[in-house]
Amino acid sequence: MDNNAGENFDVVIVGSGAGGMLAAIRAHDAGLRAVVVEKSDRYGGTSAVSGGAIWIPNNRSLQGRDSPSMAMEYLKACTENAVPEAKLRYYVDMAPQLVDYLSALGIKYYVHPELTYPDYYPKHPGALPGGRTMFVAPLEDGHVLGEEFYRLRESYPEFKLMNRISLDLEEGSALLYRKPGWLGVLGRAMLRYWGDIGCRRRTRRDRRLTIGNALIGGLRKAMLERGIPLLLNTCMKELVVTDGRVTGVVVLREGRRQTLSAHKGVILASGGFEQSTELRERHLGHQSSGEWSATPRDNNVGDGLRAAQAIGADTAFLDQAWWAPTIRMPSQQAPNTNRHMALFFERGLPHSLCVNRNGVRFTNETCSYHQFGQAMLRDQALTGANSPCWFVFDGEFRRKYPLGGLLPGSVAPDATLPPDWFDNFLYRADSLHQLAGKIGVPTDALADTVAKFNRCSEAGVDKDFGRGDDFYSRYFGDPSHGPSRTLGSLAKGPYYAVRLDLGDLGTKGGPKTDESARVLTVGGAPIPGLYAIGNVAGSVMGGSYPGAGATLGSSMTFAMAAVNSLLTQQDQADERFEERITAP
Ligand code: FAD
Repeated sequence: MDNNAGENFDVVIVGSGAGGMLAAIRAHDAGLRAVVVEKSDRYGGTSAVSGGAIWIPNNRSLQGRDSPSMAMEYLKACTENAVPEAKLRYYVDMAPQLVDYLSALGIKYYVHPELTYPDYYPKHPGALPGGRTMFVAPLEDGHVLGEEFYRLRESYPEFKLMNRISLDLEEGSALLYRKPGWLGVLGRAMLRYWGDIGCRRRTRRDRRLTIGNALIGGLRKAMLERGIPLLLNTCMKELVVTDGRVTGVVVLREGRRQTLSAHKGVILASGGFEQSTELRERHLGHQSSGEWSATPRDNNVGDGLRAAQAIGADTAFLDQAWWAPTIRMPSQQAPNTNRHMALFFERGLPHSLCVNRNGVRFTNETCSYHQFGQAMLRDQALTGANSPCWFVFDGEFRRKYPLGGLLPGSVAPDATLPPDWFDNFLYRADSLHQLAGKIGVPTDALADTVAKFNRCSEAGVDKDFGRGDDFYSRYFGDPSHGPSRTLGSLAKGPYYAVRLDLGDLGTKGGPKTDESARVLTVGGAPIPGLYAIGNVAGSVMGGSYPGAGATLGSSMTFAMAAVNSLLTQQDQADERFEERITAP
């Protein structure tokens, strides 16, 4: 923890995810005294464990293939008029500038020529088959962070080789799918990690930071270079309001309540409420649980939402999350513990399908993880037999393809897996009939569904759900499989199933904000001095998820908006707001 933090600042930022840290750096560069408060003993939040990708329409690599009008058309179709046009336009105009700003901070984003990553709604006007999702380059030497290296929230095990060696998305994809040259990638990664003898003597943590850790590591480095304080173990409890404007926060720090003044304003960047059972039940209903979320445990419990509501903020999209099906993977490192991990890509691979608990398919399995979650919700409402549902696959899938943290059977055969995984996490049976019995799905229904799916696979056309009909649907298939890269029969035993829960990557509803990230009252007036960005705020994406990187992209873009507004807004307390609140 930095010890040089005073109590008076121009801007206090609550939460050390990507948006919060970027806001602090931007504010500092504009001449403001900024501080970041973080309730956890680790910085980085969900942003640190993420893929680090950002969705940037009309970025430089798309010249001639994208335009602000195409991006607007696409976003309007995605958000279905639920988000004001000014906010969408701000995102479209400013997101490319975010990439330049990150680059100036030494955090390089690029579009990979092969991993182009398609937009999530391929049939919407303005959708692109790739290029809007940008990946972050590794931070090769995390030790430039000094002691702060150890306080960075670590990436999840599934993003590392042997739970040790950091991989970027390109390396991860080469290894998981054993693309040409994968052995070289493996050899180089092992050599680099084990050859770093000085580091190995001190820690098992890889000094090379990739994906979300590269982004957060890069932002922390920029903060250190500027001397911007980051106070860990410091929890924002409430907002301070003076003469009708937000002028600071009360924090609990090392057991003591303390007030931090913010002369210009407070930026809430404290994440969603995905880890609060109470708020989940109130706003999302009972079909999902924080336990199934792929986000870190405990911290994102809606503190920012509650604090803003307590002073009269309006809210938006409280019933929405960035949905993703998750699987419950037993931990091999810590006995008796499980972790929920998002199933991002595997649903697109051949020799697999998803069924509800009636044994019936309910959607095109290859849609984006967010749409898959929405399909689970719809089917649950319709049949009462979804959430959880089942991912079913055959021996050919198991041999060839990875699944969550599970490597393909050709690399990690069943005999090498812990015996207690079977019929607990990974259900296995010699026949479909036996498998149906084990997972409690009607035997005949599952057999009928698989028989029908196999006929579609042989023809290479999914008449029921259009799996493989669009560029997104094909992207995560197996290019070496034909006639369709995503449709393949389930015909070779043994047969397997894993349970899919309705998980998420965070909630996306909270205080309603305008295009300057200012928090609005129910009457639509800005609350002077209060801003919200990232998952704590009602999302600029409404109920949609336009493409990979839309959450970090919007969090950081609106961090820039908040700081710009702090600089330009004169401190006029809004009269309507003043009438409604009293200073504590
Ligand atoms: P966070 O990053 O969670 O930061 C919020 C911080 O606020 C936390 O550190 C928390 O401890 C702190 N906090 C909370 N309450 C308080 C309080 N009272 N006082 C002080 N501090 C507080 N999105 C993408 O765009 N691209 C990706 O590639 C991507 N990959 C993902 C992969 C995984 C496995 C997961 C789980 C998510 C992924 N996401 C991705 C989603 C993305 O990570 C989140 O939506 C995003 O990080 C949310 O950012 P945030 O700043 O709002 O919240």
